[in-house]
Amino acid sequence: MADACRIGIDLGGTKIEGVVLDGNGRPLARRRVPTGQQHGYEHIVETTGRLTDELRALAPGCGAVGVGTPGALSSRTGLMKNSNTACLNGRDLPGDLRRRIGLPVMVENDANCFTLAEARSGAGQGARVVFGVIMGTGCGGGLVVDGRLWSGPQRIAGEWGHHSIDPNGPACYCGQRGCVECYLAGPAVERRYAARAGSPTTMDDIVARARAGEAAARAVFDEFLDRFGRALANLITILDPDVVVLGGGLSNIDELYDQGRAAAARYVFNDELRTPIRRNRHGDSAGVLGAAFLAAP
Ligand SMILES: [Zn+2]
Repeated sequence: MADACRIGIDLGGTKIEGVVLDGNGRPLARRRVPTGQQHGYEHIVETTGRLTDELRALAPGCGAVGVGTPGALSSRTGLMKNSNTACLNGRDLPGDLRRRIGLPVMVENDANCFTLAEARSGAGQGARVVFGVIMGTGCGGGLVVDGRLWSGPQRIAGEWGHHSIDPNGPACYCGQRGCVECYLAGPAVERRYAARAGSPTTMDDIVARARAGEAAARAVFDEFLDRFGRALANLITILDPDVVVLGGGLSNIDELYDQGRAAAARYVFNDELRTPIRRNRHGDSAGVLGAAFLAAP
C-alpha cells in the first residue's frame, strides 16, 4: 500500500497546506504552515520543502508530489505565470521544488485541482465531463474528462473567469472589459454595491441585506445571479458538461442553485436545462486533495 500513497500540497497566498493520502485516498496526515510570501520565493520553496519532508517521513514510499497553486505554468517557457503570489511568476517552481524535495513534482492551477478532487471523489464522482467553478476572491474554473484534467495546448481550458460577458463592462486586471470575474468574484460584487449604495460592505452582508429586502443590495444581488446564469449558460452551451460543481466562498450562496440556475436556463441554447449544478463536497480540502491526485494519476 505504501507505494501507492500520494502527497498533495496546496500552495496559497497565505498558507501552504499539505496532505499525504494512503493507497485508498484516505488522509494519513495533514500539515498547514504560513506561506510567508513577504520573505520571497526561496523562502516559499524551502517552506514547501520542509512541509513535504515531514509528510514523507510519515509515508516513506511516496514517489511524487502534486502542487496546486493559483496561476499556471506557461506552456512555452515552463515558468509560472498569472499567480497572485507575485514572487512565483517567472520562476521554475516545479524544477526548484524537485531539486529541493528530490522527487518528481507536478504543478497545476488550484481551480484544476479543485475540479480533479470533486470529479474523482466528490460531487462530480461518476460523471464523464465535470466542470468545476471557483467563485471567491477571484473566479476560475477547471475541466476534467474521464477522471483526467483537460488543460489544453495553451493551458487555458476552463479559465471561465476571463471570458467577457459585456465589452462595455468594468475594466478587468487582465486587460479586457466585463469579464465574468468582474461580476462574480466577491470583491467585484462589493465594488458594485459600494458604487450603487454609496457605502461599502462585505459580500456576506450584501447577501443578507438583499434577503432582507434592501433595494440597493437586491439590485446588485439580482445582477450577480443573472450574470452567473449568463456565464454558466455560455459554458454549458459550448461544453455541455455532465455536471457543474461550484466551489470557493461564494458557492455557499443558496440562491445560486435556484435563481442562478433559473437564469442559466433562460440563456442556454436549449428548451430546458438538465445539467446538474452542485455544491462541492470537499470544501476547503478540495485543492489539497486534487493536488495529491496529480501525484498518483
Ligand atoms: Zn479578465
